[in-house]
Amino acid sequence: MAEKRVVLLLVDGLRPDVAESALARGDLPALEAMVREGSTGRGVTVFPSTTSVAYLPFLTGCTPGRCNVPSIRWLERTRYSGRWWRDSELVRSYCGYQAGRLDGDVTPGIRTIFELVPQSLGIFTPVAKGLTSERDPSRAERKFWGALAHYLEWHQPSDEAVRRHLLRGIDGPWRFIFAQFPAVDGYTHQSTPRAPRVLRALRRVDDTVAAVRARLAARGELEDTLILLVSDHGAAEVKVHLDLADWFRVQGARTLSHPIIWEKEPQAAVMIAGNGSAMVYAQPNVPRTERWGIDRLRRPESFGARGDPIAALTAEAAVAFVAAEERPETVRVASNDGEAEIVRAGDQIRYRPLTGDPLEIGGETSRTDAEWLESTWDGPYPDAMVQLLDQFRAGRTGDLIVVAREGYDFRRRFEVPEHKSGHGSLIRAHMQIPVWASVPGVTTPMRSVDLFPAMLEWLGEPIPEGIDAQPVWSPARVATVA
Ligand SMILES: [Zn+2]
Repeated sequence: MAEKRVVLLLVDGLRPDVAESALARGDLPALEAMVREGSTGRGVTVFPSTTSVAYLPFLTGCTPGRCNVPSIRWLERTRYSGRWWRDSELVRSYCGYQAGRLDGDVTPGIRTIFELVPQSLGIFTPVAKGLTSERDPSRAERKFWGALAHYLEWHQPSDEAVRRHLLRGIDGPWRFIFAQFPAVDGYTHQSTPRAPRVLRALRRVDDTVAAVRARLAARGELEDTLILLVSDHGAAEVKVHLDLADWFRVQGARTLSHPIIWEKEPQAAVMIAGNGSAMVYAQPNVPRTERWGIDRLRRPESFGARGDPIAALTAEAAVAFVAAEERPETVRVASNDGEAEIVRAGDQIRYRPLTGDPLEIGGETSRTDAEWLESTWDGPYPDAMVQLLDQFRAGRTGDLIVVAREGYDFRRRFEVPEHKSGHGSLIRAHMQIPVWASVPGVTTPMRSVDLFPAMLEWLGEPIPEGIDAQPVWSPARVATVA
């Protein structure tokens, strides 16, 4: 029997509807040939819906909360005490020179697929735990092109580098390849999720898929290779920017935020993700293990603000809702519609409106994790119950999570380049992802994390104990039955 292989292609920031309409128009002939025998579906990513964080589920089978990597920027709140130099390592941003810290920040004991399947290749991957430099051949190029693309808004060369390494890799010995294509996300940020240059980059990915399939077919390996095309998040146009760090300053709070990561006696630390959500830490220079609940955060002195900061925040048009932890496994959500509570009890999660229905569920409801996914994946906040509880599993998560409404973000006022589209929020346009497979029967909806055991099963590898993923889809069984 020929050896089973997996190629996981991640088109960063690709919206499922954009991909589906390109497919329907006949713009993606290689992917069309792939899914004709295989299948297309949709999944949901994790919160916050941002690059790096949202790669962890595919590559570890664990959620960001479990990995203790709750966002692309965070503060080690149990240890940070405001010392200028000695504590600077306790404030993280994977967007700059600390990008390489991600692997070491993941909860010890969580293993990547690269560690579980030693014959792996990672191409343009920000999660590289377990990869030697030969197995991460584009490491230097990723940094080089990434920096250039960021400032020159020129993203296609990155995808060309991915293509080169991918095609070279296919010809060598391997069992698992992960390749990330950054151009769709880059061009989306500069324009819109459906802009001509985004579609051009997507057509070029299709061309790469054609070359991959041709090489596999020439080696007689196409049948035994599971090819998956996914993304890590969607995107939506941004019309209004609300600089959340400046917002806290206007409220009277001395505020710590990137890119300047030191502030004398800060009263708030604002950590933005992607740019549609943020974590806010109250009194961040006083190390603390417990988080403050929403009633405490409403007190002006919590952030050194002049009034009730929660009331002021939820009155902003940019803010869909805020969330805080009451106690472990209990989250309070507040919007301009009022407050509700999310409580995990055994295998059920109960959503209970208190003074309102911020998550637009319609009333008190108790469901399992799987039922919540099923009932909310196409709603305004897909999988919100599970995702919000997960955020607060991470010790590094702040006291308050602020979620932007569609059309808004929390970017810095002078960010270069300006983001005309973004992601990071819990809204449907950011949370839904395509899940396309070269084998039939891909399940809709699926959580991104659930692809991890599916890939290992295809490879005939044991699935590690204690991961967050569920065995919702079994590509191996479907393929044998067919
Ligand atoms: Zn992005």
